[in-house]
Amino acid sequence: MENLIVQKYGGTSVANAERIMHVAKTVSDTYKKGKRVVVVVSAQGHTTDRLVEKARGISSDSNRRELDMLLVTGEQQSAALMAMALQSLGHDAVSLNAAQVGIEATSVHGNAQIKRIRTARLTEELEKGRIVVVAGFQGINRFGDMTTLGRGASDTTAVALAAVLEAELCEIYTDVDGIYTVDPRIVPTAKKLDVISYDDMLELASSGAGVLHNRAVEMAKRYRVNLVLRSSMSEIPGTLIKEATEVERLAVSGIAIDRNVARISVTGLEDKPGVAYSIFDPLAKGKLNVDVILLSVGEGEKRDYCFTVHKQEMGLACEILEQNKEKIGYDTLITDENLAKLTIVGAGMANNAGVASTMFEALYECGVNIETICTSEIKITVLIDQRHITKAAKAVHDKFEPMFSKDYTQTEDA
Ligand code: ASP
Ligand code: MG
Repeated sequence: MENLIVQKYGGTSVANAERIMHVAKTVSDTYKKGKRVVVVVSAQGHTTDRLVEKARGISSDSNRRELDMLLVTGEQQSAALMAMALQSLGHDAVSLNAAQVGIEATSVHGNAQIKRIRTARLTEELEKGRIVVVAGFQGINRFGDMTTLGRGASDTTAVALAAVLEAELCEIYTDVDGIYTVDPRIVPTAKKLDVISYDDMLELASSGAGVLHNRAVEMAKRYRVNLVLRSSMSEIPGTLIKEATEVERLAVSGIAIDRNVARISVTGLEDKPGVAYSIFDPLAKGKLNVDVILLSVGEGEKRDYCFTVHKQEMGLACEILEQNKEKIGYDTLITDENLAKLTIVGAGMANNAGVASTMFEALYECGVNIETICTSEIKITVLIDQRHITKAAKAVHDKFEPMFSKDYTQTEDA
């Protein structure tokens, strides 16, 4: 649809009445410039966390369908309030939830994926000149039940809407003014990036940089959505996320920090085909995301497997492995929750020998021991003691600093 902009506002941006009015004015300004606007909102402030706590207050193991019924209310509140705010500024606005729009998703409660979005209702409303406010983070499954799309997934709702409606731009408004080379709250010398490729952003998002939902980036890349991340509190232009061919390939474009990792070691396994499958197949069936996987020589002829999962999923992962203990045939499970993950990302890494050793040198110089290393074409991940993560992030960032200071704006104009 021509002249259409999708704007997504996160929880902090809609935390109270004052902020909602502030956002409504930004939306109103965009509309007055002759744009059609679809607004996607998250739940206010920490509403989703509170709702999760409420459910825990009733039962530690709530039914997933009912949990989703509860969680979707957060976004619906924001959507209705935003529509009211826009109406108070004299606009014709309407709020819609996932069922009203027709955002069809898979059935997995708590981590559903968008399959299809019906556009009829949306286009009808937009053609009437209305501003449409959509509740993020939710979908309906084939049974007509509400599902949620994973924590932080309002970003994904916004990008998906921008993709199906062929919007000219998808703006993600948040409480930071762009993508930084590293989390500026941890490393104050972090630099804001003017532009980053979908690929590098995807790796950063998947490695724990919490600014953008990784599935949102994946979708933006697939459908070539023009994506911008910017602050709802300031006028500063944000970070543009686009095709790699239009971005200078830097050896390192950013560093991600993830404290939410737990490592599980499965020891004493036989050295024969099918062992890895026997471990990871039940985990995959349990919908667990497994990250860094390492296979090492154990005692005698035996092998040990190590891998990481999200901290919150460690209990479930161990449970699944214990249920399959005989089939897998391991000795012990050893868990470690005191680790953190530090990842450097850069599409230009592949052609730049020495990036890994530069990273290891930085860690050596600040006296941080590396527990596990995992590399790919465009990223290097290390697991280290959680207590040293700030020191390590600073040291690594300092080492790569000269590479970050390239003038990105020139690339953009070229
Ligand atoms: N409210 C949901 C969450 O807190 C979704 C989102 O904010 O994107 O995870
Ligand atoms: Mg978010």
